[in-house]
Amino acid sequence: MVSISPTSSTGASSPSPVARSSNVYHIFAGKLFDSHSRKLVPKQAITIDRDSGTILKVQDVADFWAESERRRLADNGVAEEIVDLMHLTVLPGFVDAHVHMFLHAYKETSWNDQLTKESLAERTLRAGAHARKTLMAGFTTVRDLGTEGAEDADIALRKCLAVLPDAEGPIIPGPRYYCSSRAIVSTGSYGPKSSLFPSQNVVEGVTGAEAADGVEGCIRAVRRQIGTGADWIKIYADYRVRSRMSDVSPSTAWTSTALFTNAELRAMIDTAHAHGVKVAAHTNTPGVIEQLLDLGVDSIEHGSDLFLSDAHGTRAGATLIEKWASLRGTTVWVPTLAVVYTLGQQGLHDTAAWERTRRSFEKVLQVGGAAGAGPGREGIRIACGGDTGAFPHGENGLEMVLMRRLGAEWGVVLGWATLGGWECVRGMEWEGERGEARVRSVEEGQGLQGAKARGKSNLERGCRLARFGRAGRAIWSA
Ligand SMILES: [Zn+2]
Repeated sequence: MVSISPTSSTGASSPSPVARSSNVYHIFAGKLFDSHSRKLVPKQAITIDRDSGTILKVQDVADFWAESERRRLADNGVAEEIVDLMHLTVLPGFVDAHVHMFLHAYKETSWNDQLTKESLAERTLRAGAHARKTLMAGFTTVRDLGTEGAEDADIALRKCLAVLPDAEGPIIPGPRYYCSSRAIVSTGSYGPKSSLFPSQNVVEGVTGAEAADGVEGCIRAVRRQIGTGADWIKIYADYRVRSRMSDVSPSTAWTSTALFTNAELRAMIDTAHAHGVKVAAHTNTPGVIEQLLDLGVDSIEHGSDLFLSDAHGTRAGATLIEKWASLRGTTVWVPTLAVVYTLGQQGLHDTAAWERTRRSFEKVLQVGGAAGAGPGREGIRIACGGDTGAFPHGENGLEMVLMRRLGAEWGVVLGWATLGGWECVRGMEWEGERGEARVRSVEEGQGLQGAKARGKSNLERGCRLARFGRAGRAIWSA
């Protein structure tokens, strides 16, 4: 006989003892967000394998009950558990494709002071706390694009966040964690820079990233970081190299220029790809973006000047967007609206940067260059990534709020924040059919109170979430 034992979605309850007798459980969703169609589907029953976390079936609740009756008649004697979220809208876990777990808000402590005055121990302990905040905000997967001076501590953090064999759970609660260790820059380009010794880009032995020069040096750095255990290679492809000019010419100091030659970029990207590792590139300038697109980089981070109508002319900006859109999704754009907006508001960043970023994002929407997440939809593929860490961890959702505010439809934004994020951060080994299988095996998700997943209001307020984790354990609810 089948006995159904509903599990409350509130009160962080664990499944009832009865439920343990079945190797599957079911989630009833008042509405379910489908990342492929980017629509809310009403009254869905999701059947999940308790051991693997794999979603076995999604069907109408009415069909579930009809099937349940058949199972009851078959008298298989297995009790089943239902997590009743019929009063909620259920979504797959969000993905933040650009975080820095080893940084905290610049408003609290500047980047320079974090690197030069906070010990590696402090920064690592903070990173553990940041991971928990990230998960509590509904983000179940992140990609960390550089420890920014915290050496290779992200590799250890990844271990502590993982469910190791024979362990009950992870050592630290947090999201699924893809990381890139130190990131790569060219000599002289990146901080922290010594005040006493202007030619030194090292303070007390701390460097913000690993410096590499020349084709051989660049290949060596990529190999070393992959050997260290990095999931991704992060390259700073352009940066404010002439920052020391700030005393006499702030405009020169704030201008980004390329850090690497085309041959160096090609060497790094090809080497990483040969090892099955993807490459993310920090870049803002149109010329560097175009080079990286031609070289097959996997993601462009920021891209504030993608549409730079003043300096390059309207036509040039639109042409670059059209070129990117025609590449059919091989390079993902992570526009990091949240960091540019926040630091601009706080007076910590070039105030014109937000205007340029905003214009580039709006122009991509206008010319129809933005693809919805998922295969078969042409255009620039976009993932949500806030550069979270420069502003508080846990506020990752700001990126979605800003995308919505700048005109993207809420369904498309949620698609970018879920399936689009996964398609960006997943390793090369997940490309193709295997990746599709992984998309279906979402191990956790969240329910939005009141079925008001219309973007702005709910996300801005910090919506009520009922999270459910691996094996159906309700691990948090508030
Ligand atoms: Zn970043």
